[in-house]
Amino acid sequence: MRDLWPAAASIDLDAIAHNVRVLRERAGGAALMAVVKADAYGHGLVPAARAALAGGASVLGVAQPTEALALREAGVEAPVLCWLVPHGADLTPLVAADVQVAAAAPWVLDALVTASRAAGRPAVTQLKADTGLARNGAYALPLAAGGATDWSDLVTHAARLESTGLLEVVGLFSHLARADEPGHPSVRAQQDAFAAAVDEAERAGLRPAVRHLSNSAATLTEPTAVWDMVRPGLAVYGLSPVPQLASAAELGLRPAMRVTATVALAKRIRAGQGVSYGHTYAPRQESTVIDVPLGYADGIPRHASGVAPVQVHGRRFTLSGRVCMDQVVVDVGDLEVAAGDQVVLFGAGDDREPTAQDWAEAVGTISYEIVTRFGPRVPRVYQGVGA
Ligand SMILES: *Cc1c(COP(=O)(O)O)cnc(C)c1O
Repeated sequence: MRDLWPAAASIDLDAIAHNVRVLRERAGGAALMAVVKADAYGHGLVPAARAALAGGASVLGVAQPTEALALREAGVEAPVLCWLVPHGADLTPLVAADVQVAAAAPWVLDALVTASRAAGRPAVTQLKADTGLARNGAYALPLAAGGATDWSDLVTHAARLESTGLLEVVGLFSHLARADEPGHPSVRAQQDAFAAAVDEAERAGLRPAVRHLSNSAATLTEPTAVWDMVRPGLAVYGLSPVPQLASAAELGLRPAMRVTATVALAKRIRAGQGVSYGHTYAPRQESTVIDVPLGYADGIPRHASGVAPVQVHGRRFTLSGRVCMDQVVVDVGDLEVAAGDQVVLFGAGDDREPTAQDWAEAVGTISYEIVTRFGPRVPRVYQGVGA
C-alpha cells in the first residue's frame, strides 16, 4: 500500500521524547502533561502519546472525550485529562475508563457525580479557572469589586460534592491568553488571578494535588508560572511557540514532522504557459514543472498558492500557481527532476529544508495550524522510540 501512496508525514518519535526532556528541564523538573489533542497536533495520537511518556511526561491532555477514550482503547494507562465535554452527555464511559474530566461549570460536576454512580467508582476532576482568556473555564474575575464569581460557585459546589465520596478534585488549572508575548502585563495579571483562584479553592476545602498554568510559550519563557506541572502542546512536537523571539533550534527543540512526496510527473512547458487553475503563474522561459501529489484535501492550505517553499534535490522552490485538491505544481526551472524523485515540503530544517514555521510565515498563519491540518489521507510513518 505504501508504494501506492506517494506522500507521507514521517514522525520522529525520538524528537518528541527529546522535546519533552528539554521542556521538563526548562520547567525545573516539574511534572509535565503532554497535550496530545487534535491527533497530537497531526503527529498521530497514540504513538506521539507513548513517545511523550517515554520522554518523561506523566499525564496526557486532550480536548475531546473521544480522544481520551482512543488512548484508553489503545492501552495507554497514564492519567488523561479531557477538557471539553458536551452539555447533557453521559460521562459514564469516561469515568469508567478512569479519564479525568475538567469542569468549567457546576453542571459538569453534576454529570460526573451521575456518571460516578453508574460506573461504581469516584469521578476524578480538575477545575478550570478562566483567569482572563474569556474562553473555557469558570470566570474567576468578579464583575463588581468584591463580588462572587463563577469560580466561587464552582469551587463551593465541588467541595460539597467531594464530601459525598463520588467526586475527587485532583487539580486546578487555567490557560494564558498572551503567553507568546513574554512580559505582557496580562501574563502577570493572569498569574495573580490564578493564585487568588487557588487560594479560594483551598479556602473552600479543596486540596488538589496539581495546579498548572503553563502552555508551551509559558514553559519556555515564564519560569514563575510553573506551579506543580506544565502543560505544553506545540513545543512537544518541536515547534517554537515564540518564533518572533527564538527558533525551535535556539530553544533546543527538534521538529518531529517531515512531510515529503514523490514527484507524480515532470515535464517541460513553454514560456508563458499558465500553470494550474486560473493560470495565476506562468514561467518566463521554457521550464520544467513537477506535479506533487498533495493538495488542500490533505492539509496544504490553499493560501500556500504561490508562496510556500519546497525543497527538491537540495534546492528551494516556491509552489507555482494554485494549490488544488490533490496536487500542487512547482516550477523547477532547468533542474533535472523525474517522476519518483523526492520533494520535501517541510521538516526539521536540516540542510536548509523548509520548516513548518517557514510555511506558517509564507501563508500568514501559525505553525500549529500547518501541522494540525495534515489529515488522515496522508500516511504517518513512525521512526524512533516505539515505532
Ligand atoms: C491546547 C492547549 C494547551 C497547549 O497549548 P500550546 O500552546 O500548544 O502549548 C494547553 N492547555 C490547554 C487548555 C489547551 O487547550
